[in-house]
Amino acid sequence: MPWDEEAPDLFVCRRCGDCCKGYGGTAVDEDDIAAIARHLNRSPGEVRARYCLPAGKGFLLGQREDGYCVFWDGICRIHPVKPRMCRRWPFIEGLLRDPGNWRAMASVCPGMRADAPLARVLSVTAARLEAERRKALACAGPPSDP
Ligand code: SF4
Ligand code: SF4
Repeated sequence: MPWDEEAPDLFVCRRCGDCCKGYGGTAVDEDDIAAIARHLNRSPGEVRARYCLPAGKGFLLGQREDGYCVFWDGICRIHPVKPRMCRRWPFIEGLLRDPGNWRAMASVCPGMRADAPLARVLSVTAARLEAERRKALACAGPPSDP
C-alpha cells in the first residue's frame, strides 16, 4: 500500500489495504529483498525462505490464507522499505505505454480519481519514474574507470 500523496488531484490513498490482497502477488527483486532483510535484521536468504515464493526467475511476496500479503497487518509492516512495485502504485510504467490503463486501475483502487485527465496522469507518471531513475543512478555512484 502506498502512502505517498504528492499528486492529490490524481490519487490519495484511502488506506483500505485492497491492493495488499490478491492481484497475483507482489514481485520483489534482489534490491527489495536486501532492503527488507536489513529492515528486519535478517539475511536475504532468510527473507526469501520465510516471506517469499519463487515465481519464474524471481520471487513474489507470500500471501496468507486470507489472500493478504504476509506483511499486511492493518498497515504495511515494512512500509519504510516496501517493494518498488508497492512504492510506485498507481504511477506504474504501463501507464507510459497506455495512460488509458488508469481507468481500469481506478476501478479496483478507491484512492485513484477515475476521471483524471490522462495527460496529467502521463506527465506525473513520467516525472515520478524519471525521479526514481535519477535517484537510483545517484545511489549507484559514478561509473568506475575501465
Ligand atoms: S509489502 Fe506492504 S504495501 Fe506491499 S503488498 Fe505487502 S503489505 Fe502491501
Ligand atoms: S487499494 Fe488504493 S486506496 Fe486502497 S490501500 Fe491500495 S493504493 Fe490505497
